Parts: sequence; C-alpha cells; structure tokens
Amino acid sequence: MLLNNKVAIITGGTRGIGFSTVVRFLDEGARIALFGSRQESVDKALKNLEKIRPMADVMGLCPDLNDPLAISEAIDTVCLELGKLDILVNNAGISASESLFDYDAKDFKKITDLNINAVFYGSQAAAKVMAKKGGGVILNTSSVVSLYAQPSGCGYPTSKFAINGLTKSLARELGKDGIRVNAVAPGVIGTDMVAALPEEVVQGLCASIPLGRMGKPEDIANAFVFLASDMASYITGAVLSVDGAIVI
Ligand code: NAD
Repeated sequence: MLLNNKVAIITGGTRGIGFSTVVRFLDEGARIALFGSRQESVDKALKNLEKIRPMADVMGLCPDLNDPLAISEAIDTVCLELGKLDILVNNAGISASESLFDYDAKDFKKITDLNINAVFYGSQAAAKVMAKKGGGVILNTSSVVSLYAQPSGCGYPTSKFAINGLTKSLARELGKDGIRVNAVAPGVIGTDMVAALPEEVVQGLCASIPLGRMGKPEDIANAFVFLASDMASYITGAVLSVDGAIVI
C-alpha cells in the first residue's frame, strides 16, 4: 500500500473528486480527515463511506475554510485525534461562468476566497505542523483552465492560475522543511461541477478529448495518490495535467 499509516486531510472530501480521493487514500492505507462545507454533507459522506468501506479510519469536520483560525484549529484537532498530519489535499473549489459584463464583484470574491485564499490558509497552517515533524506533502487542485483560460467566467481560471503560482512558490520555500508541494490540473471530470454546465458545452468539450472520454473522479484521485506517495519523493513544484490531452 502506497500510503500506509499516513494521515491526510482532504478538503471538499464529501463528493466528487474529493470523495474519490478519500476512498483511494483509504484503500492505500491512509487515515483520513475529510473536510466539508456543512455538518450535514460531512455526515452524509461518512455514512456513505461506512457502507462501502466499513472498517475505514476516517473522521469529518467542517471548518470555515475562509477563516484561518478555524482551519488552524481543525488541523490541531486532526493532529490530536489521528496523531499527526502527513498530507493535505486542497481540493474544495467552486466555479462560475458569468461574462465579464454580468460578473458580480461579490461572486468574483467568493471564488478567489475559496479557490485561492483558503488554499493559502490551509497550506500555511499545515506547513507549520509538517515542518515541526520533519516533512509532509501539500497537494493542490488546479485545472486545465490554468493552461488555456476560458472564454467567460474569468474568476475561475484566474484562481487556478494563482494555484499554479502558489504551488511552485511554496515548493521552493518549503523544500528545506522536507515538504513537497504539487498540484493536479484536471480536465473535464464527471462531477457535480460539470453536471452544472449546459449539455451542449459539455459535449463540445468532450469532443476535443483525444482519449475519447470524460475523466472520472478516480482518474484524479489516482494522481493524488501517486503525488502523495514516496513514489513521487523527488517531485515538487509540479502541476500534473490529468486531462486526456484536451485542448480547450
Ligand atoms: P464538486 O462540486 O463535486 O465538489 C466540490 C467540493 O468542494 C465539495 O466537496 C464541496 O463541499 C466543496 N466546497 C464547495 N464550497 C465549499 C466551501 N465554501 N467550503 C468548503 N468546501 C466547499 O466539484 P469537483 O469537480 O469534485 O471539484 C473538486 C476540485 O476539482 C475543485 O477545486 C475544482 O475546481 C477542481 N476541478 C474540477 C474539474 C471538473 O471537471 N470537475 C476540472 C478541473 C478542476
């Protein structure tokens, strides 16, 4: 098993890519704290896990990811309950596709608050704990839009370009502390986020995927497993595209 005895936090672990990552990490021997946005969705995810992985060592919390103190306290709780923190997967994210002329400033802020600022807060709090114990792994969730941008909804690609910058910056800063920092850049993956797009948009996107299919959440989860494991011990500052070579 690739993650035996590792302790990982996965934000947005209640559904989609995050939930698949929880399952794959458990299967590789990790103990997990999944973070969700509401107690209700956390409870539902834990119930679903109980059905498919009855012996799973998993706890759930719902700190406000926009509150640095709440994140720091949640990380302390995980360290207390599970003994340590080895891996943080910053996965929680939202998207929007309003045109610039209709873009509400509040919506732009909402996206940057969760997709950038929360990743900074979580990484900072986790890095402090990891540095003290001699190392760890931080994994971020970028996107194919960080390569090509998108024709409307500028807040989302802006946030993912920022994630690439944060990933590479933190890799340079934290190498001396034994902390590796990488990102996965998913293409079009079959989750609620893509289900919210108009059917014709999704069809158009899928038509340009050379591998001929939409990605599955497990495709991204597998990349996170690899980057979290010692198999990737010399990889840091990378943004790994997992997108079937889509060009958008
Ligand atoms: P999803 O909508 O299924 O899941 C999003 C997760 O984020 C959920 O667990 C949700 O609870 C959590 N979340 C949302 N708002 C939150 C908040 N305010 N506080 C805490 N948690 C919150 O979407 P997904 O496709 O699984 O997306 C996961 C990540 O993958 C995101 O960062 C997204 O940008 C990225 N991504 C997805 C795709 C795709 O095609 N699905 C492509 C590229 C990147």
